[in-house]
Amino acid sequence: MSFETQTPPAGGASASPTAPRTPLVTSRLPEVGTTIFSVMSALAVKHGAVNLGQGFPDFDCAPGLVEAVHAAMRAGHNQYPPMPGVPALRQALAAKIERLYGHRYNADSEITITAGATQGILTAILALVHPGDEVIVLEPCYDSYGPAITLAGGTVVRVPLNPADFRLDLAQLSAALSPRTRAIIINTPHNPTGSVWSTGDMQALAELLRPTDVLVLSDEVYEHMVFDGQVHASVSAVPELAARSLVISSFGKTYHVTGWKVGHVAAPAALMAEFRKVHQFNVFTVNTPMQHGLAAWLADPLPYEELPAFYQRKRDRFRAGLAGTRFELLPCAGSYFQCVDYSRISSLPDQQFAEWLTAEVGVAAIPLSAFYSRPPARPIVRFCFAKTEATLDEALRRLSRL
Ligand code: PMP
Ligand code: GLN
Repeated sequence: MSFETQTPPAGGASASPTAPRTPLVTSRLPEVGTTIFSVMSALAVKHGAVNLGQGFPDFDCAPGLVEAVHAAMRAGHNQYPPMPGVPALRQALAAKIERLYGHRYNADSEITITAGATQGILTAILALVHPGDEVIVLEPCYDSYGPAITLAGGTVVRVPLNPADFRLDLAQLSAALSPRTRAIIINTPHNPTGSVWSTGDMQALAELLRPTDVLVLSDEVYEHMVFDGQVHASVSAVPELAARSLVISSFGKTYHVTGWKVGHVAAPAALMAEFRKVHQFNVFTVNTPMQHGLAAWLADPLPYEELPAFYQRKRDRFRAGLAGTRFELLPCAGSYFQCVDYSRISSLPDQQFAEWLTAEVGVAAIPLSAFYSRPPARPIVRFCFAKTEATLDEALRRLSRL
């Protein structure tokens, strides 16, 4: 914490020798305010709007998962677990990752349970990025990446995704690499645009990074939300990338429990050893009964195997409803987000449009500028379709006048 010295103002109550002194604080993140997700959720409540802004399901998780957590509590799993996480959960994850992506992580030394993906991302960056290092992010990107890099003393290098389809632009990425590049953060399926990486994209990245020591932080929290028969391209499926990557995911997305804040990170032992040095002083451990409950629940692949079809139905219902409006629908190949171009409806900047939509139409959305360092060229807002059919239909009813 850094405090600047302050000369108390002369006169008035605050000048009294007994008045408490308010230290001047120099912000570590001077450009950061409250996240757009909290802002839009609060606005949705204020206006009684249907909240398609912040990304979270409005339906409950499987009762069996709740029961598994209760059972763990009743069985006395209520004290600190081992620092990297409950062994049964790490073993279940190692088996799942091997089955899905063909790479075997060592459950003892290569997997750590985190307090959500957010902590995994911050901890990975604090552990591996030194002051002055450059970290590449592909813009638009999730809002925590930039501040996490800044907190580590790194420099954020922003490479635009291809504006036509929000896919990787390899030439631009290649041009951004420098001797100071320490890491690149990638995210597939992508928040906010719903684009997904192909195996070919992964291979191209592997080739590009081959002569370098650049690390990859791969944010794969939406790994089970890939549509239209495509498969999720994980860095762990490409041995060359797995050897230089930290793979981050979240049970919050997969099991409809965003409020539990339990995620995981997988990485080669040498990287994981550094990760854990920070993790142990960051949170030390993540709550025990939920880890036991999740370990039991992971034994059955059905809940995550059903997820693509489950969310694809919601995507299709929502897109079909929006087709009758003047919104221009962008493709959505994965994630639970649908982006729309609203230029046929309004010329407002996206934040104002999202506020207007919330207050006047009664549907909250997220402006895409929240994922950019500068105002984006195209007027787009993001809707979250992780909602019940009734919620989606009510939102569509309200949006139908546009
Ligand atoms: N990465 C991305 C791309 C996300 O969308 C989110 C949350 N929605 C996170 C990370 C954070 O996940 P968690 O809630 O598990 O911290
Ligand atoms: N990741 C979620 C989203 O994109 C929100 C998480 C949060 O509120 N920080 O909407």
